[in-house]
Amino acid sequence: MTSSRTSPGLHIIHIAAEMAPVAKVGGLGDVVTGLGKALQKRGHLVEIILPKYDCMQYDRIQDLRALDTIVESYFDGKLFENKVWVGTVEGLPVYFIEPHHPGKFFWRGQFYGEHDDFKRFSFFSRAALQLLLQADKKPDIIHCHDWQTAFVAPLYWDLYAPKGLNSARVCFTCHNFEYQGTAPASELASCGLDVYQLNRPDRMQDNSALDRVNPVKGAIVFSNVVTTVSPTYAQEVRTAEGGRGLHSTLNFHSKKFFGILNGIDADAWNPASDSFLEVQYSANDLQGKAENKSAIRRRLGLSSTDDRQPLVGCITRLVPQKGMHLIRHAIYRTLELGGQFVLLGSSPVAHIQREFEGIAHQFQNHNHIRLILKYDESLSHSIYAASDMFIIPSIFEPCGLTQMIAMRYGSIPIARKTGGLNDSVFDVDDDTIPLQFRNGYTFVTPDEKGVNSALERAFDHYHNNNESWQQLVRKDMNMDFSWESSASQYEELYAKSVARARATASRA
Ligand code: ADP
Repeated sequence: MTSSRTSPGLHIIHIAAEMAPVAKVGGLGDVVTGLGKALQKRGHLVEIILPKYDCMQYDRIQDLRALDTIVESYFDGKLFENKVWVGTVEGLPVYFIEPHHPGKFFWRGQFYGEHDDFKRFSFFSRAALQLLLQADKKPDIIHCHDWQTAFVAPLYWDLYAPKGLNSARVCFTCHNFEYQGTAPASELASCGLDVYQLNRPDRMQDNSALDRVNPVKGAIVFSNVVTTVSPTYAQEVRTAEGGRGLHSTLNFHSKKFFGILNGIDADAWNPASDSFLEVQYSANDLQGKAENKSAIRRRLGLSSTDDRQPLVGCITRLVPQKGMHLIRHAIYRTLELGGQFVLLGSSPVAHIQREFEGIAHQFQNHNHIRLILKYDESLSHSIYAASDMFIIPSIFEPCGLTQMIAMRYGSIPIARKTGGLNDSVFDVDDDTIPLQFRNGYTFVTPDEKGVNSALERAFDHYHNNNESWQQLVRKDMNMDFSWESSASQYEELYAKSVARARATASRA
């Protein structure tokens, strides 16, 4: 195992449950890779630790090999061996932890949604720290993400700093406060944390269920830096309405809490070099975009008689957060307005998946509507490229990546003004916004009237002023949503936190 620093910058370790494209469920996977690559480009040594899932895309890992070293990690009073694998994903060094526990923690055919998620991921959090300790790594920053690896923060300070893994500051990013991973307090003991010490109101005790612990709350309390994924969402979660029970904790710790808008991986999402596309294209050559539209219409069996019939795209997890009733409404309204609609989505919730299967069935041979209810990365690229407009009517949206990807592919976003959508989509008709930032259509109230108002204005513009629409498409494609500026904000937070620690150490 390489243990020494090879770069002049900071040594940053991300511990996460997802990483695109090998293990991606949603935006978290994109962020770990995108932020990691941007920080690496800026001269930092970035390493990632992931579980070794059976269902990963192994063909996207280069040079995967098992290390000779075995890492022994604690679980429920005993030590279990972990085999550690190392490989490269998108140019980033990644360690994969394979527990040799009879529970086959990451050998389940899916990433999340198992009865023992709390125990599986608290086990992984501890095994990741054990790996760092055993490999004698001296990171400056340990960055953990979401509830699955939130355990890293209390584990680090309570168990691992005293063992000598004490060079690092801990940064925690919450990508969505909806998912807090609470569990009966007693379950915390399985990874060796002290239930009696931690199940307290100022530590990990859930703010509404006193017999439960809340890993996200624990990470807020125990991390040096806490971030979420957009400035607007950072404000929203500090209110009783948006904080999902954690607003008081976030307000108490507000000095270390920041909102940084995510970027997108501008290499992975680049219509000029995207190998998933029928034809590559750029803002200077929009003919290629039109060809992608024709191609997807052929591929999905939609009518191709009218080139100027607008195609509305939507790519999403089908969960209540995403405004499913509004997505459903947008399908019917698009049809009434004479457009075409393509939805690519899948739901972890059985009844929602069934409901959309019903709609998909209703339209299965329809000329203008197609619902594809699965996760399909390749098809997602084709839809971004083919669509003229892209709808994101979220009830809440921590950051949202699809609006940024859509713009990069010249698909004009129609979005509800919430969270990160409010920080990245600005209405073309809003005179209070400087002209150069206006890039899409927005609405405020999450109801059918709201969707209609934005969708109808977009259709009007598309039909009645082709020249200005093309200008808008080119403008959106040229907007910079890369990780550059966001990564520099993370870098600044890391550097300040490290400097504070060093100043304290030198005073001691
Ligand atoms: P969230 O993290 O809440 O799911 P984001 O907008 O932050 O939402 O990220 C969604 C990411 O997942 C985007 O990269 C999007 O293209 C991708 N995605 C969502 N659903 C699908 C799907 N069914 N098939 C392929 N990609 C999908």
